Amino acid sequence: MNQIKMPLHAATVVFGGTFDPVHFGHLRAAAELSQQLAVDDFRILPAGQPPHRTDTLATATQRLTMLELALHEHPGIRIDDREIRRAGPSYMADTLAEIRAEIGPTRPLLLALGQDAANQLDRWHCWQQLPLLAHLLVMTRPDNAPTYAGKLEQQLRPRKVADTQALWRKAAGAVLHLNITELAISSTDIRARIASGSDPAFLLPASVIAYIKAQGLYRADDASPAGPVIR
Ligand code: ATP
Repeated sequence: MNQIKMPLHAATVVFGGTFDPVHFGHLRAAAELSQQLAVDDFRILPAGQPPHRTDTLATATQRLTMLELALHEHPGIRIDDREIRRAGPSYMADTLAEIRAEIGPTRPLLLALGQDAANQLDRWHCWQQLPLLAHLLVMTRPDNAPTYAGKLEQQLRPRKVADTQALWRKAAGAVLHLNITELAISSTDIRARIASGSDPAFLLPASVIAYIKAQGLYRADDASPAGPVIR
């Protein structure tokens, strides 16, 4: 039977993160989001040198390679590697401004982020610019309710919308909370397992596990202040 294909929404989604390493929690969330939103441009955007994180262990290039391995068979999700190519710290506000300049002023641009990241949005550089540049799509996690306070609550509350339709009507400015299946997987847990010699099988793609092993990443002896030892 022929399936009726719905036209895709002309919109750009950016799913940013550290991906140190990428795992099935990220990949499942990205797959669900891209299906639910049905946009013609869905990007995973690894942070080059995350300004708010000091504990990344893999290099930017290694994190990019792991994403490439993980997304090898998902042509609908592409990797935007601009922050990896850019020298110095990466700020999402700069990245979104750059993408906005490329896609023009009218195309909807969505920044997808987990509830944990959204709860701390006011720690991001020029965070008040973010809703002016893009819609915020917050993936809600059952164990991580919104805890917006003060200025963050003031900025986000009036922007809240109830469904995706509101996102296609304007280029930026809405905040949508969307339920996404939460797999209880985190990069922190995976790194800890590897450091303790435990097998991370089925938490992330086998190709990524093979790469981690080949590069000697996240092993306990890599936790030196000098950073990972690449073997
Ligand atoms: P870490 O444990 O090192 O903090 P992480 O697993 O949370 O890493 P990040 O790279 O920091 O991964 O997250 C990228 C984005 O993916 C964030 O918006 C985060 O909220 C979201 N995310 C992380 N883990 C999951 C998960 N299991 N399910 C859905 N979304 C997730």
